[in-house]
Amino acid sequence: MAFALNLYPITYMAKYNPQTKNWDEQWLESDKIPHDELMAMSEDERKVILDKRNQMGTPSVSYTSQYAYSCFEGMKGFPTKDGGVAIFRPEENAKRFYNSMKGMYCPPFPVEMYVKASVEFVKKNAELGYVPKYNPEWEKTDFANAESIYIRPFMNSEGAIGVGCAQQPCVIICATTVSAYFKAGLDGAVITERIRATPHGTGYIKCASNYVISALAKKEAEEKGFVECVYLDAVHRKYFQEGSSCNIFFVLKDKTIVTPELSDTILPGITRKSVIVLAKEKGYKVEERQISVKEVQKKAIECFVTGTAAGISPMSSITDLKGKKTDFGSGFGPVAKELQHELKGRQYGAIADPNNWNTVVIQGNN
Ligand SMILES: *Cc1c(COP(=O)(O)O)cnc(C)c1O
Repeated sequence: MAFALNLYPITYMAKYNPQTKNWDEQWLESDKIPHDELMAMSEDERKVILDKRNQMGTPSVSYTSQYAYSCFEGMKGFPTKDGGVAIFRPEENAKRFYNSMKGMYCPPFPVEMYVKASVEFVKKNAELGYVPKYNPEWEKTDFANAESIYIRPFMNSEGAIGVGCAQQPCVIICATTVSAYFKAGLDGAVITERIRATPHGTGYIKCASNYVISALAKKEAEEKGFVECVYLDAVHRKYFQEGSSCNIFFVLKDKTIVTPELSDTILPGITRKSVIVLAKEKGYKVEERQISVKEVQKKAIECFVTGTAAGISPMSSITDLKGKKTDFGSGFGPVAKELQHELKGRQYGAIADPNNWNTVVIQGNN
């Protein structure tokens, strides 16, 4: 359930035309089978439909399939308490996607088109019932296992075989329903020897090629019994960078919250940015700066990672390269819990959204 590829029937696609310099938009409908009808089918019947929808991502011979020349976004659409649907801060993802495409030397996808297409996309699929129903039970655990729409915009290149940069990229938006991100049962993090990003590289953009190392390091961590891997900086090998595809925060004994400062080796997470605002609103002192393994081992009392998929996920411990384990206790620490309550509460419309972070897709009425 967590991240199954069960695509929604309607997909958005925009192709760049270098002659006209326009993006030609289209809606791809695999089928128009409503969600309830799909669920009522036998498993075999359902599989045929889903396989067809999922083929949408089948790679061709392109810069993307051969050199991982692609970039992507992860956004969530939330069923809100009032019965509506909202996307969390899509304009932030739109700006980051624009920067990713620019960083890859290809025509960037306009921010306004991104936001408009995302809203339309969720609306079209929601009309067929592809939106989880709000469940008040979720509030009891601050939405730990709540469902949402995982929206995946990404870029593919045109057909090509030599190494090069796309001149006619294509932007696709697809989605699937998700719930909890991390595997249940595992809860500790381990520092990996692998290097995710180097100075002057591509670590600051969400480009596909960065994620091969992430996938390897995460698999290795899981094989050793950890839920997450954590990277150190490539130069000094002593400062924290981030998790496999999440940003990292520490709470020190004096309650100061520290997260590594942004640079060209850190992905500027929108959850990170939001958590910093929420923590400051709650009166915490937040520092964006380098933080070493030694400092964490001496002073940290909580550690959590943040991301659209992960939300705020506490890490029960961090094990360094020599095997030394620093324990933070399992489950949410008090600071992570308070922030999770604020973040998820606002995303699901269970509490007020004073910063207007939610873009309403479907107006609620109760
Ligand atoms: C996507 C991502 C994050 C989290 O970003 P959000 O905008 O919060 O989802 C953090 N690190 C990496 C490497 C990522 O790819």
